[in-house]
Amino acid sequence: MFINVSSLNKSYTSGLVRNEVLKGIGMKLEKGEIGVILGPSGSGKSTLMNIIGGVDRADSGRISVDGVEISNLNDDQLTDYRREDIGFVFQFYNLIPNLTVGENIEVVSNISKAPLNMDEVLTAVGMQDKKRRFPRELSGGEQQRVSIARAVVKNPKLLLCDEPTGALDYQTSRSILQLLQQVNTKYGTTILMITHNGAIAAMANRVFKLRSGEIVEEVVNQMTIPAERIEW
Ligand code: ADP
Ligand code: MG
Repeated sequence: MFINVSSLNKSYTSGLVRNEVLKGIGMKLEKGEIGVILGPSGSGKSTLMNIIGGVDRADSGRISVDGVEISNLNDDQLTDYRREDIGFVFQFYNLIPNLTVGENIEVVSNISKAPLNMDEVLTAVGMQDKKRRFPRELSGGEQQRVSIARAVVKNPKLLLCDEPTGALDYQTSRSILQLLQQVNTKYGTTILMITHNGAIAAMANRVFKLRSGEIVEEVVNQMTIPAERIEW
């Protein structure tokens, strides 16, 4: 099993108040699959994704990714894991504003162990003609394409997308979801994506429904639907 999470607990404490954000989470995803975490705002989706991506640490539980038990890693090892093995895509793109499209991707490519060819990745996301543009000169959908290229160029084991279409209109959202599906097919990248749109889950192999820090339902889709055919 590529991702194997079991009995994961996480709470945050502020003052005297303890907020149990994740309560005994278990989830599995095979290599090359697309998984979706579905749930309302505040249910713990980002916290779970951040722990799997080595951004945050669990209080207890086991989290193994491609055979590595990440809760056993020390801080330096966790940083290496996050940098080398995980690609991140966020709702608001998080591109570096004073660097061009090409430079945004180059920064990641230069510190990656085995990066993919930058021009090939830019072409794959349809941004080969915009290499010298700055983020402010691009639409939201184009910025998200660049942020996907930046995540993919390091050839990550796992691509984590936290509400990648949360800031985009309907048509652009569909094209971004289609692109993620293409990346999954072309590079065999395992993808774990957060959304709170149930319709989008039809493109995933596995869907994990989260409510108040617990997985209340897991759905395995025998047939996944191409993103361009999903309507919501
Ligand atoms: P979701 O992504 O599903 O909207 P989050 O994982 O962001 O949910 O947050 C779940 C809960 O954890 C919320 O109550 C949020 O306020 C709390 N939380 C998240 N991150 C932190 C943090 N760094 N410190 C304290 N509380 C946090
Ligand atoms: Mg969130």
